[in-house]
Amino acid sequence: MKRSKESGRTEVYQTRAFDVVRQEFSIETELRRAIDNGALSLNFQPICDLATGRIVSFEALARWTTEQGIALSPVEFIPVAEESGLIVPLGRWAMHEAARTVAHWDRLAGGDCGAKVAVNLSAIQLQRDQIAPMVEAALAANAVDGRKITLELTESALVTDPDRIARTMHALKDLGTTLAMDDFGTGYSNLAYLQKLPIDVLKIDRSFVSGMLADRDKVAIVRAILSLAMALGMQTTAEGIETNELAQTLAALGCNYGQGFLYSRPLDADAAYALLSERSA
Ligand code: C2E
Ligand code: MG
Ligand code: MG
Ligand code: MG
Repeated sequence: MKRSKESGRTEVYQTRAFDVVRQEFSIETELRRAIDNGALSLNFQPICDLATGRIVSFEALARWTTEQGIALSPVEFIPVAEESGLIVPLGRWAMHEAARTVAHWDRLAGGDCGAKVAVNLSAIQLQRDQIAPMVEAALAANAVDGRKITLELTESALVTDPDRIARTMHALKDLGTTLAMDDFGTGYSNLAYLQKLPIDVLKIDRSFVSGMLADRDKVAIVRAILSLAMALGMQTTAEGIETNELAQTLAALGCNYGQGFLYSRPLDADAAYALLSERSA
């Protein structure tokens, strides 16, 4: 610990560190309970075909309302889940809940509801869990076809054990799922993996998309990602589309899909299904 000559400073530092530990510890304890007690839920945000506006899928995003009624953002609790290993049960829960929801939508639609569901997989979860059997079990438990599911991975998943992740990704493809690289462009800079791994979709990170119309550098990066994807036979989704102008520009540049507040904020399962049936009517 750093000591300061000024009396009192050490104490302030100590108190802060202690608060952080205490806060994280109580989040972890409560999160463990939330997973067991069903206090987590999924929201669903549409991903649209930029050319037609049709909803092609929904990204499942975890939400947690604590016992005190505080709504916590996944930006706050996913890192705690990753550090504590709780991401494994949380991720299993999310996969099962997403499969259950899409099966429910298909039943409501009397067949195929016409949209897939995308589930986020954390790099830590990929290291610690047997992902393909886990996904297979969630599909089987809900009688869902793997083609109804997209799995979103981040580049950080590729760093630790490339051979193991490659095997996992091929096993996931064998289940019929679509594989998307999330937050593309913000992580790992070694692009060699793109030709080796069975990736179907690149999701262009929001940091390049939002503000793009006023920033030529961002446009250059987005164009480069789009031409890379096209050359490699992958599809593209732009994250964080908030305006019509941005959607039109991205469509003109050849981006396939878009996601963002322009189309909809993340919605609960019933509202998401209502939006889907209203749009496809
Ligand atoms: P992500 O996978 O990149 O998800 C997209 C995030 O961008 C979501 O934030 C979404 O609400 C937000 N977003 C979408 N459109 C817009 C827009 O137009 N403008 C702005 N400003 N934001 C937009 P959210 O729900 O807070 O999730 C944050 C991150 O938490 C996700 O980023 C994902 O990495 C992680 N996450 C969420 N649910 C899960 C989960 O079940 N498992 C894992 N492993 N991670 C999850
Ligand atoms: Mg995602
Ligand atoms: Mg993303
Ligand atoms: Mg993102």
